[in-house]
Amino acid sequence: MKIKLATSYGFCFGVKRAIKIAENTKNASTIGPLIHNNEEINRLSENFNVKTLHDIKEADGVGKAIIRTHGIPKKDLEMLLKSDVQVINATCPYVTKPQEICEKMSMEGYEIVIFGDADHPEVKGVESYAIHGAHVVQSVEELEKVNFKGNKIAVVSQTTRKISEFLEITNYLETRYKEVRVFNTICNATFENQDAARELAKEADVVVVIGGKNSSNTKQLHSICKEYCVDSFLVESEKDLDPSWFTGKTLCGVTAGASTPDWIIEKIVGKISEIKV
Ligand code: SF4
Repeated sequence: MKIKLATSYGFCFGVKRAIKIAENTKNASTIGPLIHNNEEINRLSENFNVKTLHDIKEADGVGKAIIRTHGIPKKDLEMLLKSDVQVINATCPYVTKPQEICEKMSMEGYEIVIFGDADHPEVKGVESYAIHGAHVVQSVEELEKVNFKGNKIAVVSQTTRKISEFLEITNYLETRYKEVRVFNTICNATFENQDAARELAKEADVVVVIGGKNSSNTKQLHSICKEYCVDSFLVESEKDLDPSWFTGKTLCGVTAGASTPDWIIEKIVGKISEIKV
């Protein structure tokens, strides 16, 4: 069986930047996991004493606090900035963009729609910038249930979503409301990794998607791969590999989410190559 890597995969600009910030800062705490990859979080903790706090309330007296790539709610950031804690902001600039759009457009009287997962930390952060709140939807079906107050609507996307689904949302709004402002805030890394995953899945007969199971962009990659190759599997570590997936297969495609470090990818590719098919 041949193993082929996607032409674009793994660490994105925002994650590389956040890890560099954390490594340079050292002896600090992050508000929520810095990125969605447990193995990399453990490496930062062991080698750089960068610990993860799970609640903003734990930040009191920590010395240095690093804001995660996904950002945090506006009121939490303001609270930290007013405290004695030294704040180092590692929010990805692609996440800051929808935050700023939500704030500006809501100040201009637009109702805000966010296409994304309401429980995801990035979306919670972005939503907090909409001064009158936002409608967070994952599908047109959910959008149909929203009662808009007027005709002025601004729509942004969680950075890691699929463009085809975002377009379904924007088409629905544009055909029904007078003044719809569309801001495509899906990030470039997501575009590139998703395109490459799609091409890979078209030719492979089994695909392994490597990344955190809580990582939105990894889940989207997995979903795209499954559309073209039913035998697509999401793994976090080599322990998740099941040799039976590869029986009789000739081409194994491998891709990885934006928060998956190269050392994990190499380890897993090494394990796959040892499997007898
Ligand atoms: Fe930034 Fe995109 Fe990477 Fe998220 S996936 S950290 S938005 S570059």
